[in-house]
Amino acid sequence: NSSRLLNKTVLITGASSGIGAATAVLFAKGGANVILLARRAEALAKVQEQCRQAHQASGLKEGGQFASIPLDVSDRSQIASLWDKVPSNLRNVDVLVNNAGFVLGVDHVGNIAEEEVQKMFETNVFGLISLTQLLVRDFKAKNAGHVINLGSIAGREPYAGGSIYTATKHAVRAFTGSLLRELVNTPIRVTEIQPGMVETEFSIVRYRGDESAAKKVYEGLQPLVAEDIAEEIVWAAARPPHVNIAEVLVFPVNQA
Ligand code: NDP
Repeated sequence: NSSRLLNKTVLITGASSGIGAATAVLFAKGGANVILLARRAEALAKVQEQCRQAHQASGLKEGGQFASIPLDVSDRSQIASLWDKVPSNLRNVDVLVNNAGFVLGVDHVGNIAEEEVQKMFETNVFGLISLTQLLVRDFKAKNAGHVINLGSIAGREPYAGGSIYTATKHAVRAFTGSLLRELVNTPIRVTEIQPGMVETEFSIVRYRGDESAAKKVYEGLQPLVAEDIAEEIVWAAARPPHVNIAEVLVFPVNQA
């Protein structure tokens, strides 16, 4: 029931494109308030405007408060000072969506640069953990909240050429599973969404900006689109308070 989204405040990382952007717009459409985080300020401003339009078109009176905060999740000091940047009307966060993440290169482990290894872990794992720690302190204090982490099929099954990325997503799955068990018997919910192939900027980043290599991945099949995953995230957030969606694995029909 989408009435459970009304006036909820949702903080989404990686909200400047792909799954994060689509999720922000869908929450806005459902009457939630949204804090959008990512590094690219201009792209965030565009998504915030899409949120405003989606909320307006919904005709809902509740929600509709938005803020865009340029922030690099791999920089722990930026996370530590997050509350200084969040407007006071949006500081009571109900749902955290840890979505920022990327893979750089599909290559033999020996060919992946040390800085790329560090950056993938700092973004996909350490950033996600820092932000979760920050928000879970609040959630515990008010005895309510929902952490939704973006894992991946790569967090369940390793693949050749994906050594570092699959290691980061296995770490996300282990962390999320432990958090779920730590918070059992509390009203705080923990969910991991594990997409298969979704056509977003993800593939372009993976092939270091080579758009034709990025496109080739989807030749002869129909990948998911960002909105498919956004629907799963918003659905998990809109379940009744006693229902916790622990894991959702979502594939296109061409993938198994
Ligand atoms: P996109 O590349 O479209 O989006 C990634 C988002 O993460 C961007 O908004 C980017 O914004 C943000 N981001 C990256 N690094 C940082 C950082 N250091 N600090 C803050 N924000 C950052 O990809 P998707 O939407 O596809 O990916 C979203 C999530 O879904 C990721 O965690 C990914 O691993 C996961 N996933 C994706 C799959 C796919 O096939 N697409 C499959 C399985 C999982 P900016 O550059 O502005 O900082």
